[in-house]
Amino acid sequence: MTKKYETEAPGYTMTTVMEEAARCLLCHDAPCSKACPADTDPARFIRSVRFNNVKGAAETIRENNALGAICARVCPTEKYCELACSRTGIDCPIDIGGIQRYVTDFEQAAKMDILKQGKSNGHHIAIVGSGPAGLQVATTMLTKGYAVDIYEKAEKAGGYLTYGIPEYRLPNDIVEYEIKRIVNLGANIHYNTTVGKDIMMDELKANNDAVVIAVGASESKVLPMFADNENVETAVGFLARVKEAKGNITDLPENAVVVGGGDVAMDVATTLRRLNVKNVTDMAYEEFDEFKASKKELKGTREAGVTIVDGYVPTAVNGNEVTFKHRHIDSEMTIKSDKIILAVGQRVNAANLGITIDKNEEVPYAGYGTADPKVFVTGDIAQGDKTVVWAVRKGKEVAEQMDKMIMGSAKEADLVGGNE
Ligand SMILES: Cc1cc2nc3c(=O)[nH]c(=O)nc-3n(C[C@H](O)[C@H](O)[C@H](O)COP(=O)(O)OP(=O)(O)OC[C@H]3O[C@@H](n4cnc5c(N)ncnc54)[C@H](O)[C@@H]3O)c2cc1C
Ligand code: SF4
Repeated sequence: MTKKYETEAPGYTMTTVMEEAARCLLCHDAPCSKACPADTDPARFIRSVRFNNVKGAAETIRENNALGAICARVCPTEKYCELACSRTGIDCPIDIGGIQRYVTDFEQAAKMDILKQGKSNGHHIAIVGSGPAGLQVATTMLTKGYAVDIYEKAEKAGGYLTYGIPEYRLPNDIVEYEIKRIVNLGANIHYNTTVGKDIMMDELKANNDAVVIAVGASESKVLPMFADNENVETAVGFLARVKEAKGNITDLPENAVVVGGGDVAMDVATTLRRLNVKNVTDMAYEEFDEFKASKKELKGTREAGVTIVDGYVPTAVNGNEVTFKHRHIDSEMTIKSDKIILAVGQRVNAANLGITIDKNEEVPYAGYGTADPKVFVTGDIAQGDKTVVWAVRKGKEVAEQMDKMIMGSAKEADLVGGNE
C-alpha cells in the first residue's frame, strides 16, 4: 500500500527538498512556526534542512510532535502553517508538510531514536483512548518519567488514524511505526478494554495519580429518518471496515449516495470511487461557498469522479430511495441507490466516564480539568479545532497540566510528611 501511496503522492528527493527549503525567506519571528498549533517549529526544521542538517531537523520535529510523520501527511496546512508563510506574497507558500514528510521519512529510514523515556519519578497515569491525543499525552508523560497505561476499546491503537483517515492519504504502516515508537518508549496499551464497561473509572483513579479521558467522537451520528434502514451505513463504520479489510471489500454497491459535505463525506465518496463503485453522488447540505470540506479534499473528490450536489437536505426516505429538497430554491429530487452512507457528523460516547458532553460533542467548558482534580479531558472532546495537530497540541498541554498537579501534590505531600 505504501508503495502505491509513494507512487501516487511521491515525496521529495534530497535534491528537490533542498530546492524547496531554499525558497524559505528565513523570516525573523517566523509566522509559520507561530501558526502551527502543535509548535512543531517549521521555521527551525526548514532552516536545518537548508543547511543540510536533516538529522537536526528530525530532532526538532520529534521533540515537539509525537506524530510528526502523520501530521506531515494529514495536516490541513492551508489553514495553519502554510497560510501564514511569508513566501505567499511572492509566489506560493513553502510546502511545509512535504518537507516535514521528507525529514520524518529520513528519521525512519535512519532508525533514529530521538525520544527517550525519562528516569522513573514513581508516578503513574492512565489514559482512556489511544487516538492522537492519547498517544501524545503518553509520549510527553513517558519522557517526564511517568509510568503510562492506555486503555483502548478497539483491537488496535490510533483512533481515527487507524480506523478513519483513508489509506490513500495516510498509509497504515506510517501510523503503525509512530505507535510502535511510543510503545517502545514504555506505553502499556490494554487493547479491547472499554473504560466504563470492562474497567471502571473508580479503579483507574484508585491506581493512578491522574486519569485523562481522550475518547474522541468515535461514533457516527444517524439522522432519525435513516435509523434501522438496512441500506444505510455510517461514514466512520464504512471507512473502518475498508481499512480493516485493507480495501478488500466484497459487498460493494454499483451506485451509492453519500449524505454530507465535510471532509469525512469527501473521504467516503473518494474511497467508494477508488474501490471502483461506478456512480457515487454526494448530497451536501452546504452550498459550495459555505462548504466545510477543505479545498484540497473537494478537488480530490471531484477528480475521483464523484458527482457533488450542493444545498440539499434529505426530507424523506423509503427503503433505498431518498428525497432531497434544496434549502433555498424550489427543487426536489429523489435518488435511488444500492447504498446510502451517512456522513453527518460524529458523536461522543462518554457512558460511565463521569463527564458531561454538550451538543457540540465536547465538554461544556474551556481547558482540560474536570470537577474531579484527578481527572482530565483532552483531544476532540476538549474545546478547540478537531484535527490531528490540535489533538497533539491538546495532548501536550494536558500533560503539562497533569504534571504540575501531580508534582504540586507530591511536594505538598512531602511537606506534610516532613511536618509529621
Ligand atoms: C474520516 C476522518 C478523516 C479525518 N481526516 C483528518 C485529516 O485529514 N486531518 C486531520 O488533522 N484530522 C482529520 N480527522 C480528524 C482527526 O482524526 C481527529 O480530530 C482526531 O483523531 C481526534 O483525536 P482524539 O485522540 O481526540 O480521538 P480519536 O481519534 O477519536 O480516538 C479516540 C480513541 O478512544 C477510544 N475510545 C473511545 N471510547 C473509549 C472507552 N470508553 N474506553 C477506551 N477507549 C475508548 C476509541 O476507540 C479511539 O481509539 C479526520 C477524522 C475522520 C473521522
Ligand atoms: S505539524 Fe502540521 S501545522 Fe504544524 S508545521 Fe507541521 S504540517 Fe504545519
